[in-house]
Amino acid sequence: MIIIMKPQAAKENVDAVVRAITSKGLQAHLSQGDQVTIVGVVGDKTRLMHDNLELIPGVDKILSVTETYKLANKKFHPQDSTIHVGDTPIGPGQLTLMAGPCAIENEEMMMQTAMAVKAAGAAFLRGGAYKPRTSPYAFQGLEEEGLRYIRRAGDAAGLKVICEVTSLKALETAVRYVDMLQIGARNMQNFELLKEVGRSRIPVMLKRGLSATIDEWLNAAEYIISEGNPDVVLCERGIRTYEKATRNTLDLSAVPVIRSKSHLPVIVDPSHAAGVRGYIAPLAKASVAAGADGLMIEVHPCPSCALSDGPQSLTFEQFETLCRELKPYADLAQRTF
Ligand code: PEP
Ligand code: MN
Repeated sequence: MIIIMKPQAAKENVDAVVRAITSKGLQAHLSQGDQVTIVGVVGDKTRLMHDNLELIPGVDKILSVTETYKLANKKFHPQDSTIHVGDTPIGPGQLTLMAGPCAIENEEMMMQTAMAVKAAGAAFLRGGAYKPRTSPYAFQGLEEEGLRYIRRAGDAAGLKVICEVTSLKALETAVRYVDMLQIGARNMQNFELLKEVGRSRIPVMLKRGLSATIDEWLNAAEYIISEGNPDVVLCERGIRTYEKATRNTLDLSAVPVIRSKSHLPVIVDPSHAAGVRGYIAPLAKASVAAGADGLMIEVHPCPSCALSDGPQSLTFEQFETLCRELKPYADLAQRTF
């Protein structure tokens, strides 16, 4: 349920509404727009059944929010959010580029990649230290040693660092090294991990599950926000369909759908969607046109030597070309990087 205040409502009016809500043991969330204030209610709204909130001076109307996600809901927060990762914003007006290898393999390749992607325009260095591989015999990641490498490389190049966490144990270690946590597709509904990430207060990028609906994805975001961490960025990375020509099917419609249902920023990962290097540039451009707030792209100094996801990784030169080609699309979308 949301309470929409009249444009001329005074602060005392808003305070009275908040008091009425909190006195029933419910939470009140304020969204202060240019014109109106919206008070969102989280909790069992039947407790307010006899309260006649519409009679409180300054209240314009009361609407029910039927979706189970509230704090991630655009109705609670009509203005699009900007998430700040240190001094780096992700949201309206920005096209945040995150780039780096699928897996952190050694310190030298992280240093080389960091310098190359920074020069091309990236704001974030990515790289997996805990790899959720389909086969238990595939390279599983360097864990804490890898985190040390990505942190040093990010600092040397002046890049923020994002790394996936796959377990509570990984989270405990990663919080000491990274600027942003990544929850991968395979863990989108690992609710214990989502809750703990919600208590961590470090910004989180939440990837869409392999076969998750948008509703399930937004409810996963709600798990994080409801534990106290509002800094969630969504990432569309393709979903599993019958089509075999690409690794997954990039659901570009998710971008405008998320825009209409949520205030959270949404970025696109065309690398894990396509699985094929040659399709990444057109999908990246289409993502910007669809309204994405950023892109996550796999880049490797030697894709043919990569320990994971080589076929979808761009060379430094290909990434630099892509960034150059993205500029006019970003300009049209009024976004900078
Ligand atoms: C990744 O970004 O390294 C990754 C494993 O992606 P996803 O969770 O989208 O498969
Ligand atoms: Mn990968």
